[in-house]
Amino acid sequence: MLRIYDTRTRQVEEIASGRVLRMYTCGPTVYRHAHVGNLRSYLLSDLIRRVLERRRTRVLVCRNVTDVGHLVDDAEVGEDKVLMQARAEGRSVWELARFYEDAFNQDAAALNLRPPEHTPRASETIELMVELIAKLIEQGHAYATPDGSVFFDVRTFPTYGEISGNRLDALKPGPVDPRKRFHADWALWKPAQGELSWDTPWGRGFPGWHVECSAMALRFLGERIDVHTGGIDLRFPHHEDERAQSDAAVGHEVVRHWVHGEHLLFDGRKMAKSTGNVVLLSDVTEAGLDPLAVRLAFLEHRYRHQVNLNWDTLHAADRTVRRWRGRVAQWSESPSAPMAAEYVRRAEAAFDDDLDTPAALRVLRELERDDSIAPGAKFESFLHLDHLLALDLSTEIGRPRVLPAGAAELLEQRARARESLDWPASDRLRDDLAALGVRVSDTPDGQSWSM
Ligand code: AMP
Ligand code: ZN
Repeated sequence: MLRIYDTRTRQVEEIASGRVLRMYTCGPTVYRHAHVGNLRSYLLSDLIRRVLERRRTRVLVCRNVTDVGHLVDDAEVGEDKVLMQARAEGRSVWELARFYEDAFNQDAAALNLRPPEHTPRASETIELMVELIAKLIEQGHAYATPDGSVFFDVRTFPTYGEISGNRLDALKPGPVDPRKRFHADWALWKPAQGELSWDTPWGRGFPGWHVECSAMALRFLGERIDVHTGGIDLRFPHHEDERAQSDAAVGHEVVRHWVHGEHLLFDGRKMAKSTGNVVLLSDVTEAGLDPLAVRLAFLEHRYRHQVNLNWDTLHAADRTVRRWRGRVAQWSESPSAPMAAEYVRRAEAAFDDDLDTPAALRVLRELERDDSIAPGAKFESFLHLDHLLALDLSTEIGRPRVLPAGAAELLEQRARARESLDWPASDRLRDDLAALGVRVSDTPDGQSWSM
């Protein structure tokens, strides 16, 4: 049974996995390339999905595309991020938004993130938001103002703040906005900005970012959502506001578990455009690294701890991914054997334990080194666990392996040295081979090599 930390209840809870699990993941705002920090947040939902699917649970994921409504600085007033960037790049908002959505999908695929079942675009589901806002006004949870805005009346939702702990009475008022009944009310609908606007009973305008997620989640997953994920910074105000809107509209708690991924730091500071340390997945591949090295580098840490990466750790992860692929290919040539059951059980238990991926990777490394386990069993175990790891560990199987010049002779000499029990010579030849990039290991069937 998967157990995971629930931000709202502040404890590790069991994720009841029946036949179906519904999960909503706040999707990208498509006005620029996602950096690898953003991608770390999306890995969280992929891991939850993979762990549950192993148990034959059908996982239904909705990950929206925010192509309108997300304002600069997440502020109540300010310019729409997509609109602003379109102007800066001299492109239409639609061209820009589709371009970055495609780029995001390519990055997600390169990281082996399974595609969600639903990927609604905010701009194409405006009628859902209008419907939800109308319902909230009718119920007395929202009010329209003369300038064509609609605000959520937060004092009608007494449990506001349960996710982040930011209770209403403790919230510091921001700048006074005369349109609001209370300083912490937020806009569900805002007056038009440029091309991104639609006609409604309250005037021409566009939806607030928070109400978009409520509307899409309720429509595509229904009124009972098992898990809702996002980066840690979305706890407040985005998820608090989303929870208030959805729960107020349907009259009960919509989301069972709120789960948040911690930030990625790079060279010691949070990865962000404003920090100036953004690394894109394309930077990683241009440096000659496999994109899945990034996935492995993430898995080396638990999702709810900060990860501090740098280019050295990415290079190290790349070497490990390549080594494991080489080993799996090499083991695939050995007689088949059943999985190393105890190792696999421990690795799977680590995944179940609040996605303790670093512990799972330690088990894999232990298994890799354990000479008492037959290569065929290692092969089966690594491939089985790769359904969770998704590091494409089988890609080298069957690839012709070409030894560097001179290595074949050294291997032959080493085989002869071992036959005559000349261990010092055998060790020396192993070092000579390593210098050529060829790793030798000794198995009951004789020596084998990998690169
Ligand atoms: P955005 O496209 O800006 O809405 O952000 C997409 C996701 O990335 C959100 O879930 C953010 O919480 C998350 N995020 C932003 N910066 C980082 C970071 N440095 N590390 C991990 N996640 C991040
Ligand atoms: Zn959201």
